[in-house]
Amino acid sequence: MNPMEVVQENSVNPVNTQTWANGRHMMRCVKVIQETHDVKTFCFMSQTPIMFFFKPGQFVTLELTIGGEQVMRSYTISSSPSVPYSFSITVKRVKNGLVSNWLHDNMRVDDELAVHGPVGNFNCIDFSTERALFLSGGVGITPVMSMARWWYDTNSNVDMKFVHSAQTPKDIIFLKELELMSSRIDNFELSIVCERYDIGESWHGYRGT
Ligand SMILES: Cc1cc2nc3c(=O)[nH]c(=O)nc-3n(C[C@H](O)[C@H](O)[C@H](O)COP(=O)(O)OP(=O)(O)OC[C@H]3O[C@@H](n4cnc5c(N)ncnc54)[C@H](O)[C@@H]3O)c2cc1C
Repeated sequence: MNPMEVVQENSVNPVNTQTWANGRHMMRCVKVIQETHDVKTFCFMSQTPIMFFFKPGQFVTLELTIGGEQVMRSYTISSSPSVPYSFSITVKRVKNGLVSNWLHDNMRVDDELAVHGPVGNFNCIDFSTERALFLSGGVGITPVMSMARWWYDTNSNVDMKFVHSAQTPKDIIFLKELELMSSRIDNFELSIVCERYDIGESWHGYRGT
């Protein structure tokens, strides 16, 4: 058989793929990435391929059933619509938190869940600018990471200063990717601030709270 004739059902087709619109959608977890000791990124695709166009900074609301109860929690999309065939959320464990710990302990590749969105006015499309100062702390990096990825991937001329604060060096989310971006383009300046470093850790960057 001609390999060109082999078209996998549900495979991604860049020509006729549908796009995402605000609403309730069934998603499949396609990847789980351990970012730090207590932060994971969960990547999702639709059951039938769609392109996830959204405004960087927007969020989705997950609908889950835990212990027989329906629970909803919102998470900012940490990925960028410049990589549109999937989207990601990045979740930090919250002490005694129901959903964050459930996701970390239970959400696996191929699991399905309902997602509402995308929504949110805090985004970098509705408010355009030539210069952006991103200030984030901890897992609050997610909206500005999406914006930075978008402007980086789309070769924007926006002059970006990215200042991120973490508790300790081992808590810095997306460090390698941020360093890569700042090493490759002139209009992305990165500063990381750590509150402290633990015994055995070294940190030569900024310190402060
Ligand atoms: C727009 C938006 C975007 C967000 N984006 C992100 C993101 O990108 N990444 C991310 O990690 N989070 C994000 N969040 C936060 C996220 O929605 C959750 O709030 C977070 O994951 C905690 O949920 P949880 O179910 O784990 O904790 P919960 O179960 O809601 O508990 C939260 C805290 O309250 C305490 N608590 C719960 N019930 C009680 C009670 N009855 N009495 C006293 N204390 C109680 C818990 O012990 C815990 O410390 C976002 C929130 C919003 C609104």
